[in-house]
Amino acid sequence: MLRAGPASAPYRPALRRGREGPDMEDRRALLEEVTRLVVETLEQMDHGPAMVPVGISARHIHLTREHVEALFGVGHKLTPIKPLSQPGQFACAETVDVYGPAGMLRMRVLGPERSRSQVEIAFSESRKLGIVPPVRNSGDLDGTPGVTLMGPRGKVVLREGLIIADRHLHMSEAEGERYGIKNGDKLELVLQGGKPGVIGNVTARVGRQYALDCHVDIDDANAFQLQQGQWAIIRKQG
Ligand SMILES: [Zn+2]
Repeated sequence: MLRAGPASAPYRPALRRGREGPDMEDRRALLEEVTRLVVETLEQMDHGPAMVPVGISARHIHLTREHVEALFGVGHKLTPIKPLSQPGQFACAETVDVYGPAGMLRMRVLGPERSRSQVEIAFSESRKLGIVPPVRNSGDLDGTPGVTLMGPRGKVVLREGLIIADRHLHMSEAEGERYGIKNGDKLELVLQGGKPGVIGNVTARVGRQYALDCHVDIDDANAFQLQQGQWAIIRKQG
């Protein structure tokens, strides 16, 4: 910590140029030393617990260009209505009816388009469709169950793509470095609220394109009575 030195004349930075003598050099050296001490102190203060805002993901669907056209018509462009926490991601005006053997769930489309279509539901919703999908990382779709999609202009039979998304946490590379967290690390979230507790098995996704945020589904949110955007302490799973 910075300690106050003995009382001395207050430091006044020279406002005018052209009066630089040995005195100015002393002042500059002093300024550099003070700056170094302030930065050091701030760095020490920054070692509080890592915290993250909680994002609750409702069921949703990501679509390929081909499937957007099959469901909404040739040349159709998705209509963004709300930006999401991750840069470039958005909720769309479009919804799709997703059918399984037992029934239907209506889902919001999230943009932008992706290279594979993907449907994300919570375990408690799988009963409605009559299929229990595996817990998977986004994009890890091989061998997952299929569903049928109905849009206003057509139908798509998805051979695979239904998952329960695993809990995950996005952070930038700089944040990862500051907190000592690497891509793929398993983390815990310490939560306050009506039913406080610890959620484990949260996968870190560290990358330049990410904003600090974590995603849990509605089953986790209900189990812990979570509020959208409430803060959680991040802990490494030991
Ligand atoms: Zn998603």
